Amino acid sequence: MVRYQIRARGLKDESLLQALLAVPRHLFVPEAYRGEAYEDYPLPIGEGQTISQPYIVALMTAAAEIKPGDKVLEIGTGSGYQAAVLSRLTDQVFSVEIRETLATRAARLLESLDFKNIRVRWADGYFGWPEEAPFDAILVTCAANHIPPPLFQQLREGGRLVIPVGSTVFFQTLTLVRKTGGQPVIKQLLDVRFVPMVGEIEKNKR
Ligand code: SAH
Repeated sequence: MVRYQIRARGLKDESLLQALLAVPRHLFVPEAYRGEAYEDYPLPIGEGQTISQPYIVALMTAAAEIKPGDKVLEIGTGSGYQAAVLSRLTDQVFSVEIRETLATRAARLLESLDFKNIRVRWADGYFGWPEEAPFDAILVTCAANHIPPPLFQQLREGGRLVIPVGSTVFFQTLTLVRKTGGQPVIKQLLDVRFVPMVGEIEKNKR
């Protein structure tokens, strides 16, 4: 997986590749899909949700430029896989999941695998995790039709927000937002397809 899907596509940062090698992805997918855990596509994880394709996990992680010591927030814990990868690159990972069953399951799995530096919260990630802000990086793993203002606010100066922005039902553009002088500097990375963000964002169509 790492050699052919990640490295061959140009993501060569050694610490990123080591982080991917360190996380047993097959334990984050349902048993029925274990044999496909390292394939080049997303997989169902229950509740109509999916674990992202390995390359997308790697690309989002690379775009967020995680360095040791960074405080990182993920919105959309799902299986817990992306959080696990992030936790190999820094020591403080916070992850918010809106579906209680997924939040509980991911928290238990991460604990049983001894990922001690990840905290999972069951809540609407639209509002971020204000008590722990500011963050050096925020990764949103569900599709948003706009950038939730609380997430930009909770970004440290120089911080990176990686988020799929666009239609929540069709395609989105994976977008990198860097807080520079308090303002967003936006870079579009590539077209992606994520499951929709739900909750507050649905009330607030823009
Ligand atoms: N990062 C996950 C993949 C997540 S799929 C992994 O590595 O497995 C997207 C997740 O976002 C789903 O679990 C979905 O329930 C969650 N989600 C959707 N809207 C959300 C919201 N407003 N706040 C937090 N999580 C949300």
